[in-house]
Amino acid sequence: MIVVMQTAAEKEQVEGVEQKLVEMGFAPHRIQGTGRVVIGAVGERKVVFPTGLEVLPGVERVVPIGAPYKLVSREVKERGSVVEVGDLKVGGSEIVVMAGPCAVESEEQLLTIARLVKAAGAQVLRGGAFKPRSSPYSFQGLELEGLKMLNRAREETGLKIVTEVLNPQEVELVADYTDIIQIGARNMQNFSLLREVGRLKKPVLLKRGLAATLEEWLMAAEYILAEGNFQVILCERGIRTFETSTRSTLDISAIPQAKSMTHLPVVADPCHASGTWKLASPLSRAAIAAGADGLLIEVHHKPSEALCDGPQSLTPEKFSRLLFSLQPVAEAVERTVCVGEDLSMTGGL
Ligand code: PEP
Ligand code: MN
Repeated sequence: MIVVMQTAAEKEQVEGVEQKLVEMGFAPHRIQGTGRVVIGAVGERKVVFPTGLEVLPGVERVVPIGAPYKLVSREVKERGSVVEVGDLKVGGSEIVVMAGPCAVESEEQLLTIARLVKAAGAQVLRGGAFKPRSSPYSFQGLELEGLKMLNRAREETGLKIVTEVLNPQEVELVADYTDIIQIGARNMQNFSLLREVGRLKKPVLLKRGLAATLEEWLMAAEYILAEGNFQVILCERGIRTFETSTRSTLDISAIPQAKSMTHLPVVADPCHASGTWKLASPLSRAAIAAGADGLLIEVHHKPSEALCDGPQSLTPEKFSRLLFSLQPVAEAVERTVCVGEDLSMTGGL
């Protein structure tokens, strides 16, 4: 349920309601709405109306939440959340672009790509140090050495970092090196991992599982919020369908649909969705047109030599052209996108 406080409610009245909720066996989560405080109350106990909270001083009304997910739902928070990554805002008017290689392969590789994606206009550098590979014989990532390389790239370029964590034991380590911690599609329902990142005070990028419904995806996000971390960014990265000509199918409708169900920002990953760099530009434009708050794009300076996901990686030149092509679409939906140098004109490398 949600307890909506009056606009003029005093701090002590809000605290009084929170205390009462704890006594009733609920966990209260204070949410600053537009001009008033809303308290999301979650717990295993069934809510019976009237709850008794209605008569407490400062309370305007008590509303049941219809959806099985509670804290992530739009019912709790009408306005879209903005996740702050330092000075960067995900969910604001500017489209946030995260770009970089699938995997960190070497310092030279990472720095080369980092400099180029930065010049092209990206704000966040992506790159996996721990890789969730379908085959145990594929490159598994440089692990700690990779995290250190990401740190160096951040120091040199000022780009924020997003990188994946694979298991609960490594959350603390990865969190020390990254600005946004990524939960991959294969781990979307790894509940102990979700709880662990929920205890962080750091933004989490939660990818949609390969066969997850929107409700399952939002329930996964709920695990993170329920632990107290409200800084969650959802990422639509394509789902399994009967279509085999693309790696997965980018579920464009999931973008506006998820945004109608939750206040959390939603970004799109056209590279993992399609499996080919050729579709990255049209799918990015479609995602922005559908309301995505950002993009996650794989870029490699030598895609044919990439240790992971080369066929779906754009060269820096193609990536910079992609950003230019987003501008009119962003404008049409009243958003902005940061576009830097045209690397295809300067030769890029
Ligand atoms: C990735 O972003 O490198 C990745 C492995 O993505 P996904 O979890 O969406 O497959
Ligand atoms: Mn990849």
